[in-house]
Amino acid sequence: MSAVAPLAVTNARIVNAGQPATEPTTILIGDDGIISDVAAVDIPLGAKVVDANGKTVLPGLIDAHIHVYATSMIMNEINLAPLSYVALKSTQRLGGALRRGFTTLRDVAGGDIGLARAIKEGIFVSPRLLYTGPAISQTGGHGDGRNPNYTQDPDCGCLAMTVIVDGADAVRAKVRDLFRTGASCIKLMVSGGVASPTDPIMVPQFTPEEIRAATYEANRRGSHVAAHAYPPEAIKLAVENGVRTVEHGNLIDADACKAIVANGAYLVPTLVTYDAMDRRGDEIRLPPESAVKNKQVLAAGKEAVALARANGVKIGWGSDLMGDIEEEQLAGLRLQCEIEGIERVIESATVVNAELIQRPDRGVVAPGKLGDLLILEGDVLAEPSLLWDETKPRTVILGGRVVSDAPARPAATVE
Ligand SMILES: [Zn+2]
Repeated sequence: MSAVAPLAVTNARIVNAGQPATEPTTILIGDDGIISDVAAVDIPLGAKVVDANGKTVLPGLIDAHIHVYATSMIMNEINLAPLSYVALKSTQRLGGALRRGFTTLRDVAGGDIGLARAIKEGIFVSPRLLYTGPAISQTGGHGDGRNPNYTQDPDCGCLAMTVIVDGADAVRAKVRDLFRTGASCIKLMVSGGVASPTDPIMVPQFTPEEIRAATYEANRRGSHVAAHAYPPEAIKLAVENGVRTVEHGNLIDADACKAIVANGAYLVPTLVTYDAMDRRGDEIRLPPESAVKNKQVLAAGKEAVALARANGVKIGWGSDLMGDIEEEQLAGLRLQCEIEGIERVIESATVVNAELIQRPDRGVVAPGKLGDLLILEGDVLAEPSLLWDETKPRTVILGGRVVSDAPARPAATVE
């Protein structure tokens, strides 16, 4: 992605993870979209200037767990929806994420080469998108959305978001094919989940051999495997067999934390999805069996983050919002901030997420990094709500181009 002209952000108080805000300085982003200087003395002739006086400049945020094709909360509705509708709806969801300040997303069940091509061709403006393609699930696992009353159902019920595969050889072939069609990384369902109808949350899924087939193939490509897992047994099964990122992890215990650390893996909490499903279950037609499962993981999620931190786990950040509750993405930053504080949540959503998605070219405002920035009104370290208050103005810069300069959601107008 190249910018039309160099961009200078003046009076920029930069907040990189783990550091206090800098004194006001000038950031330069070259016409290649890369940051060339963060202490510029001269502004190149013809550069566009954005004045950040009185504001905070953060690296563009990263959401490591998103589902751009999750047009509904009901898995089979997504799988049976017309693909044209799903694709168009995803452009709306991608645009929403960008306006909120997310300049990189990792889709961990969905995305495909067509969407990636449309973004590359500039058909619409999108955050940078990494995608796994459909998440791989065992029969009757978290990616199996089939109604159990239809035992003759010949359709695996999977199109956009999940695919059912059993056996190590079949997993290996599927992973190879996903990379063939442009996947950035691979997603496995390694325990039961909330949105699927028939799999108990506590039961691990896949065998060590099946998981190792996937991680071997992914590692060989310089990529990684993300695994959906709630209970300790599933978390250990995942990381001991080469999984890099544990998604959710709500029911983690100290032993599972130690296994994550010992295997150099990461935890990606997704607190907001349980919170929003609990509050808005009726509105989004959350099936009753999912509502019961959601209660199982809701309260535990916050304790899981604290326990992981106490055990030295590297903690990222994800939203995991399906259907209309997708609009609550920023509330996920608030929830993690309530447990960890503003410095930590910025770290999780920038530098740690960049590391866990294997993209060291982002997550920090520094020379040589991508020119992706989020500019917030005021001092976010003193007033953390600026990060998630979607009625406050925010400027989003992607590859040196201003792509949004307005509140993420305009305040309701008074008639
Ligand atoms: Zn998810």
